[in-house]
Amino acid sequence: FARAETIAVGSEMLALGRVDTNSGVIADRLATLGIDVIARSVVSDHLGHVEIAVRTALQRADVVLITGGLGPTDDDLTRQAVAAAIGREMHEDAEQMARITERFAKRALAMPEINRRQAMVIDGAVRLDNPNGTAPGQWIDLGPQAIALLPGPPREMTPMLDRLVAGVLGARAGEQRTYSRGLKVAGRSESSVEATLQPLYATWRAAALPVEATILALLGRIELHLFVRTADPAAAAAALSRAIAEAATALGPSVYTTTDESLEDLAGHLLRAAGWRVSVAESCTGGLLSARLTDVPGSSAWVDGGVITYSNALKTVLADVPAALIAEHGAVSEPVALALAAGVRDRCGTQVGVGITGIAGPDGGTDAKPVGTVFIALHTPSIVACRHAHFVGDRVVVRHQSVSAALDMLRL
Ligand code: ATP
Ligand code: MG
Repeated sequence: FARAETIAVGSEMLALGRVDTNSGVIADRLATLGIDVIARSVVSDHLGHVEIAVRTALQRADVVLITGGLGPTDDDLTRQAVAAAIGREMHEDAEQMARITERFAKRALAMPEINRRQAMVIDGAVRLDNPNGTAPGQWIDLGPQAIALLPGPPREMTPMLDRLVAGVLGARAGEQRTYSRGLKVAGRSESSVEATLQPLYATWRAAALPVEATILALLGRIELHLFVRTADPAAAAAALSRAIAEAATALGPSVYTTTDESLEDLAGHLLRAAGWRVSVAESCTGGLLSARLTDVPGSSAWVDGGVITYSNALKTVLADVPAALIAEHGAVSEPVALALAAGVRDRCGTQVGVGITGIAGPDGGTDAKPVGTVFIALHTPSIVACRHAHFVGDRVVVRHQSVSAALDMLRL
């Protein structure tokens, strides 16, 4: 098996609130076997819709894993839908029926007639025991393909999946595994990263051991993920490090890690190595930078703290920004950002000070200073710098981009 598809059955997961986590767990486990999940769907508790999802999945995947809808109630119709999709009948499994009866008897409960449904097994299917619930799973070997029916509750689904991975799925996975590595970029747009890497993609794909690439745009950073499929772990490591090195060279200093460090990890390591402590004065980010800096375990070794100076008055009171400076340039300006950084550094007695002031939106923008205008200033013993940024996006995006840009500046 090389390609898998997952189907999460349950109308509740089509609205806000309930999230399909089973499919992600399945994808992670299958990745260890080198089986790629090529598509995932969430389908309502409707016989016809589940049947179509199964038929569609069988057109493109070697193995289809379906979770949910194995309960005893009317809306649990995964069994019927799969039977219909592959044109098989179901029968009552005597052994399973005995187990269910026993379960109820043990608790001195009468078994409701609807629980008989959970003993229905698709012809030719292997029953998968469920020690954590009443609904057994089913494994249907279709020759070149296979279907797994797994329960919805994660604490029932995961152990059953793990047994499949250790057993029949592992046996059918083949020698090849998928290996991956990544790098992270700050301060560049997805399209500029893409344009820089474009010429490399073709050479990676044409290599003896092809390297596939995916770019992810996240809040305040871009990630490049590289994958190879091979039975040879050493060849995978070599191909991946070569490609990572080529990408890092092409992208230059905007790459802040080729391992898995975060910007705040990196800023922390650099501050610690320099023997410097940092304090911050935040306006439009309202404490988000302090939160990110102190996310790192051990950050008390380099973070002193800071102030949230959202109002003009507090910029003056807590960071010693002269009121005249604010009056002359406006609170969102380079001189005020620099004064915030210098003021908080002096007040806190740290070597490094950071000041952030900007317009996060949606209101407050002007022609001269549109929403997304942010000034980020840095005072260190060796450098005084201010970045004038124009972030594009809503309030959440502007605030997170501002924090990432500030952390990125700490790499200076
Ligand atoms: P049950 O015997 O409990 O009815 P079931 O196999 O029929 O099991 P569902 O009724 O579809 O499963 O789901 C039961 C519960 O399991 C849901 O309310 C939900 O909390 C959880 N669940 C179902 N599917 C998923 C999923 N894909 N990801 C995470 N949780 C899920
Ligand atoms: Mg359900």
